[in-house]
Amino acid sequence: MSKKRIKIDFKSPDDAVKLNYFKNEVEFSEDKNFIITVDGTKDDYIVSNRLWMSNKHREYPEMKNKLSIDANNETERLTLMQDLIDGFCEKYTLDFSSREDLLELYRRNVEPIPNPAPHVLGACRIGMKCGEGIFDFIYADFDSIYEKLRNKEYVIKYPDAKGNGQLEKFYNQYAHYCNTLYNYGELFASSLYTYICPPVFGNQIDHKRTLQYYMLQLKYWQDVYLDLFEFCYDENYHPEVLGGLCPHERYNIYCIMQDLPVSHILKNKHSIVHNKLSGEKMPYGLSEAEINKRFSAEVKMTKELKRFAKDYEFEPEILKTLIQMPHYIHICYDFSTVEEMLNLEFMRLLELDLRFIKCQRCGKYFLRKTEKDARYCDRIQPGTNKTCKDLAAIDNFKEKNKDNIPLQIYNLYYKRYVARIQGSSERERQFNEWKYKSSAKRIECEQGVITPYEYDDWNFEYFPNRKGTKFFKDKK
Ligand SMILES: [Zn+2]
Repeated sequence: MSKKRIKIDFKSPDDAVKLNYFKNEVEFSEDKNFIITVDGTKDDYIVSNRLWMSNKHREYPEMKNKLSIDANNETERLTLMQDLIDGFCEKYTLDFSSREDLLELYRRNVEPIPNPAPHVLGACRIGMKCGEGIFDFIYADFDSIYEKLRNKEYVIKYPDAKGNGQLEKFYNQYAHYCNTLYNYGELFASSLYTYICPPVFGNQIDHKRTLQYYMLQLKYWQDVYLDLFEFCYDENYHPEVLGGLCPHERYNIYCIMQDLPVSHILKNKHSIVHNKLSGEKMPYGLSEAEINKRFSAEVKMTKELKRFAKDYEFEPEILKTLIQMPHYIHICYDFSTVEEMLNLEFMRLLELDLRFIKCQRCGKYFLRKTEKDARYCDRIQPGTNKTCKDLAAIDNFKEKNKDNIPLQIYNLYYKRYVARIQGSSERERQFNEWKYKSSAKRIECEQGVITPYEYDDWNFEYFPNRKGTKFFKDKK
């Protein structure tokens, strides 16, 4: 079968989808970690504030209407949001402090607002290990939720504002985004990257077809990255051809053979900020003690300061705040789409020259930590509270004891006799006595002092009036 990938033209039907609505950031640290800062400007309180200011400090009526629609099913909405937050908290380290600061500022200066709907990760900082995000995406189960949503009627919860001005356009895009999230949020929440890069569907489009198109795209990127992991990292993948090469060299060959570009222009951003630290030392950050010191040292409104501000025709109060507040250099990459973030993370993996292997239990790739690392991953398997590593150890134990006849005899009677107890403390005492004696006999049996047949008989006759058969009933 040809391994040549067929390119799909992802021009959306009728240009019905906007894929780059969110403006997120990612910063990579020296170690194998990175931090994502989710766009914090796509929430009710920020949008509402922007509309309020642009509308000459008057309330924007459509926004007021939206908030009153939301107030109607507040409890249901809050439960849904809490479930989403819990789900993400289970997987990632989330820092909500910037989000809370923004909200606090808004509540203090503008108006009480119930909650920063509709996105639960707006302005959130997410700490991750390299590889984690890609794996979360490629192994996400989009299909089952798509099946659930595909035939549902698309609900337009927030109607468009009338008119064609800048404010209306701005509001309508936000309303479309909220509608998309209301209808398909569950699908986006299947993976972190689809959730923090949510698409925006228009109101007057064929939603079924557009959703299908969006799914096609997700599946395409899942396939591409699975392919890439196999090609660049799997040591069992054509070792006679690719064996001696580094992951980035294998990547180069893959791209050339698949007509994909080997160079990528990444959106690197250099800024000076007051709210993001990328270290404990200037210019990238300060320790907590030093930050507190800066804040507690009062900057006085001196004559010199006033004169200085006047020379620059600048507000002295603002200048005072700027002097007081510590600022840091912040270097990051911008991304808006799932595709961009996958690419950024994959490039970083190549730079770090990490090694991944395929779990021999679930078949998913995971980071190899040492040269002779275990063959099983740390993923909790569905329906259990055990990882592949745990489950493999259990299987291994079973396999090892497959031929241990005395243990099998013991286990058979253990199951039978433990069932006798039925809440009776007298029977429990008898059971414990049997357990003690039988264990001792089992050792004798293992050492060949007694035969397995004798051990079987002894156990069988221990409790009179028993039900069941002997271990060797059919095995003689
Ligand atoms: Zn596994």
